[in-house]
Amino acid sequence: MKKYLNFIIISLIFSCASPPDIKEIKGITLKAPKPENIEKFLNFVTDVLDPDEINTIIFRIGWNYEFSSHPELIDEDALSKADVKKIVKHCNSLGIQVIPQINLLGHQSTLIRDQNGIAIKTKLRPLLANYPEFDETPEIKLPENYKWPNEDGLYTKSYCPLHPDVHEVVLAIVEELINAFGSKYFHAGMDEVFYIGNDNCSRCSGKSKAKLFADEVNLVNSFLKEKNVELMIWGDRMIDGFETGLGMWEASENNTHGSVDLIDKDVIVTDWHYRTVTNTHDYFIKKGFRVITCPWNVTDVAVGNYENYKKNNSDLYLGLLQTVWMPSEDFIDLYYDRPVDVVERRRRSIDTYKKLVSLWKSE
Ligand SMILES: [Zn+2]
Repeated sequence: MKKYLNFIIISLIFSCASPPDIKEIKGITLKAPKPENIEKFLNFVTDVLDPDEINTIIFRIGWNYEFSSHPELIDEDALSKADVKKIVKHCNSLGIQVIPQINLLGHQSTLIRDQNGIAIKTKLRPLLANYPEFDETPEIKLPENYKWPNEDGLYTKSYCPLHPDVHEVVLAIVEELINAFGSKYFHAGMDEVFYIGNDNCSRCSGKSKAKLFADEVNLVNSFLKEKNVELMIWGDRMIDGFETGLGMWEASENNTHGSVDLIDKDVIVTDWHYRTVTNTHDYFIKKGFRVITCPWNVTDVAVGNYENYKKNNSDLYLGLLQTVWMPSEDFIDLYYDRPVDVVERRRRSIDTYKKLVSLWKSE
């Protein structure tokens, strides 16, 4: 009997600590909660996400983690390793995997928005704030008042992928996150990289932007593969924005799209499109990539993406992941119809979420 009990206890510990084996992704991206809101977050997982059959959270932790290898890179509201372990253990015990996400290459500065959601200020993320020598465009200074469009084409900053010291720092950060989360996957962002192959960068000038982008993806992928972790990235830089008419945000107008033929085929593409239903998933599948379709806040588009996914028979189509672009605390309050000051376009993502859940629950 004692032996039997021991077996149950060991099995329980193992099942709580290991990420679940997911066949079909029904996922959501959520920003890491502030440390004081972890319980609120976990209650939401238990009371809403689990009954809603969500099985994957792309956990947007970014620099909000207490890195021991590089404490200088810790951003405000950082979660400790114990916080992360607690969140992961709770989610895993419900069959939900938690995939850490940090933006590599691009998004090394952030936009600060006013109440109407208009970007009015910008500030460096910790990497470039602490290591200005990694900046791909050091000649472009962050303005006092930010406006888009602007003559520098400044959206967010990038690090130089050819700086000889950048990967020692960046990969240490990646390693800490994968160790803390124990996930089978890691999401490295890499979307909307507008600054790449800058003419003024002595290392990158004149080089193929597609190759610069692909080499960085493959470098991170090789690092992860040694640790049995699979890489996910956003797919926009791999799509020709001119040919598809998808533009410079959800596709590339800066000559990175050739990277689609250079990036390792075992990288998973999270294919985000918010305004229109696209057939880009077919494009990625034809190229040999596994793909996840990612809507945001336009319910019709999300439904169209979901239907595309359901009728596609390819094993390379892994599922759907809804993106959410607001603090998790606000998303939770919106879900429960509590008063919260959020711009309309963000508010609508709750309607989209509820619609998607109703679709897969009715199957
Ligand atoms: Zn460079």
